[in-house]
Amino acid sequence: MTILTPNSPTAELQRADAAHHMHPFTHGQGLNDRGARVITRAEGCWLNDSEGNRILDAMAGLWCVNIGYGRRELAQAAARQMEELPYYNTFFQTTHVPAINLAARIAELAPGDLNHVFFASSGSEANDTNLRLVRTYWAEKGQPERQWVISRWNAYHGSSVGSGSLGGMKGMHTQGGMPIPGIAHIDQPDWWSEGGDMTPEDFGRARAKQLEDKILELGPENVAAFIAEPVQGAGGVIVAPDTYWPEVQKIVDKYGILLIADEVICGFGRTGRWFGSETVGIRPDIMTIAKGLSSGYQPIGGSVLSDEVASVISGTEFNHGYTYSGHPVACAVALENLRILDEEGVVDRVASDTGPYLKERFESLTDHPLVGEAKIVGMMGSLALTPDKASRAAFASEAGTVGYITRERCFANNLIMRHVGDRMIISPPLVISREEIDVLIERAWQSLDEAHEELK
Ligand code: PLP
Repeated sequence: MTILTPNSPTAELQRADAAHHMHPFTHGQGLNDRGARVITRAEGCWLNDSEGNRILDAMAGLWCVNIGYGRRELAQAAARQMEELPYYNTFFQTTHVPAINLAARIAELAPGDLNHVFFASSGSEANDTNLRLVRTYWAEKGQPERQWVISRWNAYHGSSVGSGSLGGMKGMHTQGGMPIPGIAHIDQPDWWSEGGDMTPEDFGRARAKQLEDKILELGPENVAAFIAEPVQGAGGVIVAPDTYWPEVQKIVDKYGILLIADEVICGFGRTGRWFGSETVGIRPDIMTIAKGLSSGYQPIGGSVLSDEVASVISGTEFNHGYTYSGHPVACAVALENLRILDEEGVVDRVASDTGPYLKERFESLTDHPLVGEAKIVGMMGSLALTPDKASRAAFASEAGTVGYITRERCFANNLIMRHVGDRMIISPPLVISREEIDVLIERAWQSLDEAHEELK
């Protein structure tokens, strides 16, 4: 077997890739037809590919490289930790220094009394943990019939069987026997697409009311938890109307149901606060974290539990854990990442400097004839594409066609934006500069223009 390098010819890399590498969320045919894009290096907000392109990454990888690419301090933290203690587990009453320090730092940063961390290696694993945690919590409290977890259609909580079931992606549910029993879904607070003639405020209240209706339908005594992303990410950066979250908090309080905030995207500065729960004003009992925790430099995630939930769970042996729960190298890298986010004032800049600048520039895209709405919170935003702004109409073509065309134009213009149906979304590294924001907006506008032309 030949070992290929970043300097190997692109066609050779693509051939070997298509022959042996199965990709997530990818149609195999595309790999055979035109090959995968081969990314070879990255620095700051910029990617290099094997064909010599320099690409602005307005998605921070998969919403995770909060700190930007190429930070040597993180590589050094990993190297130091690998030399000192490359691996040990945290099962059976054992621990190590990186896990101790990281859990304490997360407890310091997390709002309220969310003071206890159960580590995993990804958001999916952490949400699987949550499913078992909330049911175990109620069983320990003498209410084992509280099994149902309520979630939302078009939510994304991961790809494992448990987390994929918690999610509300219908395309995922059609493959592999999901959702598993005990999970119920309600509609999402997407006013643009689903609000009809209602005002955003009334619509927000109506969608929150669905949670109460579902609780009553299932019987409050049978419901364990409600899980939601403070701002839906993979569903298309859906920002709920202002009336939504206060109502949801009232409802979970009224029925004593645990609230799980999935902060896998929103956490660690993405919304301009350390956690999206602070931005939308909720008090979760459990938070799911991953992605920005290590800025994607190492796979790590976790569940952050309130004092009360942790004390109930601690009353038993929780028969759950992953070989890499609290992996020392991942913890050391995450700790260094959090130090930099804090000491360099990255989260503050999202709140008061580059975040507001991005908002202003991003919202100016609504002047484009294809863009009906621009929604942005901190550094996650979406453009709703439409043939008719006034009626918020969908395109006559199959949903996603115009988004796909626009995304392809972005790629051709060396800009990575993603499309979710006919929404275009961004989630750039939090360290993006004003000059880079200008480039992002220029390239987005040009790509929209080209897509508009193509549709004529
Ligand atoms: N939860 C949310 C909100 C996510 O956006 C994701 C991934 O995009 C996950 C969970 C799953 O995380 P992972 O891909 O690390 O398993």
